[in-house]
Amino acid sequence: MDRSQGRTGGIASGTSTEPTTFTGNRALQIEEPLIFEMGQPGRCAVDLPEPPKVKERLNGLRRAGEIGLPGLAEPQVVQHYTRLSQKNYAIDMGVYPLGSCTMKHNPRINEKVARLPGIGDLHPLQPVSTVQGALELIDRLAHWLKTLTGMPAVAMSPAAGAHGEMCGMMAIAAALDARGERVRRKIVLAPESAHGTNPATAAALGFTVKPIPANERGRVDLAALKAALGPDVAAIMLTNPNTCGLFESEIVEISKAVHDAGAYFYCDGANFNAIVGRVRPGDLGVDCMHINLHKTFSTPHGGGGPGAGPVVLSAALAPYAPYPWIVKQGDAWTVAEDGAAVDGKPLGRLKAFHGQMGMFTRALAYIMSHGADGLKQAAEDAVLSANYVMAALGDIMTPAFDGPCMHEALFDDSFLKDTGVSTLDFAKAMIDEGYHPMTMYFPLVVHGAMLIEPTESVAKEDLDQFIGALRSLAERAKSGTAVEDFKAAPRFAPRRRLDETLAARKPILRWRPTNSFKQAAE
Ligand SMILES: *Cc1c(COP(=O)(O)O)cnc(C)c1O
Repeated sequence: MDRSQGRTGGIASGTSTEPTTFTGNRALQIEEPLIFEMGQPGRCAVDLPEPPKVKERLNGLRRAGEIGLPGLAEPQVVQHYTRLSQKNYAIDMGVYPLGSCTMKHNPRINEKVARLPGIGDLHPLQPVSTVQGALELIDRLAHWLKTLTGMPAVAMSPAAGAHGEMCGMMAIAAALDARGERVRRKIVLAPESAHGTNPATAAALGFTVKPIPANERGRVDLAALKAALGPDVAAIMLTNPNTCGLFESEIVEISKAVHDAGAYFYCDGANFNAIVGRVRPGDLGVDCMHINLHKTFSTPHGGGGPGAGPVVLSAALAPYAPYPWIVKQGDAWTVAEDGAAVDGKPLGRLKAFHGQMGMFTRALAYIMSHGADGLKQAAEDAVLSANYVMAALGDIMTPAFDGPCMHEALFDDSFLKDTGVSTLDFAKAMIDEGYHPMTMYFPLVVHGAMLIEPTESVAKEDLDQFIGALRSLAERAKSGTAVEDFKAAPRFAPRRRLDETLAARKPILRWRPTNSFKQAAE
């Protein structure tokens, strides 16, 4: 890129009155080219001595041309990566109300503990005798996950919620196989509001997915569920609280009906943060449930960090837990790996090594620093925050269902009817107000859905400002005078509306040198 020419062309689709700049920068939001577009080939940030002459041993394969690496001075490199790091919106910068994802605060004590050399510097191939503490840590976390869920066993290795679903459903398939019923029981029931990973998991394992409709209260329609149950049903996959942010009040009856039909109850535990410390899923008749450590026990995921999806299992499913099993022999911790004699019929390995050690450490630090009362309070505060949002916006936006919610407030788009403003426009306008939008158009059972999960860790004054911003947007949308503004939003972001479909369908994944770069390299 030739920096002397400025980058005013870089701002997309503005109106003619829109201010442009010579650089393309917007105030201190700096346009950032790829590092390959910066600098000069052949330039070097360090002063290296000439390499000594060595005997050519490459049999004529030695590269003849330039390597094509970008050449920059050290300050340019530092500035480039610092600016890139600031382009991420993060939970540490402000309110991040994504529903069904639980972007919650990650207490810094967790980071400190995860970085202790005895934990952060471990290698999974170290001799087991040198990692006794780490194995004990995994077992301690396993103990608390079992205690909090009221379940007798847990498989720790799955790497995320979706991976945990795979693990749990494989255990169910193995148990059905042992009963000689795997062939007959082909159907997995999933509510219409289910997270997409549920039907995807069932389908990936060869099950046929049958959707169960919701009733007018946003819960599973019990009569429809009972009608769907039969000798061909393997399991139900259900989230509680469900993805409408509502507690399935007939959960005990649901689990009884499922068991009476000889099927298993898979609970998607992604929303465990709404009930942890208050309800034990084991008491509700759950056979297995994954726990998104990155949702319930801190460490926001997505751009914010990795995940971990341990799966708690009932006594009936415990024997099928995958390797590795952490076993105590006398005073020593051991890892039972593939082929080891254990008290069960493990379904094999789902993952290399033992699981996400960094996440285990953070989750255990979170659990121990909160204590039983603190975990319960976190769940209660998450529910309180969501209901505060629901109550404060209920008169101007349209709650999807009557009554109080659990940890997420769900609105539909009927308040935008005939305004010319869509859920997408509304969400883009939130960006101009400095908010990451909430989850949109999910769950699918609600038209133009807006799913807001404030979590327990947003201060009241920050929630009030967020509510104020949404009220003002809703008022402007309804006034009918700001449709153009909504359609043009986000107006203050460095990028406007991108063609997300094109980006997904035709992603440009490879940078190709421009002619000037090639010439300079030659
Ligand atoms: C997040 C989520 C999942 C998937 O979990 P990942 O860790 O993202 O794989 C499954 N179900 C529900 C309800 C979720 O919110």
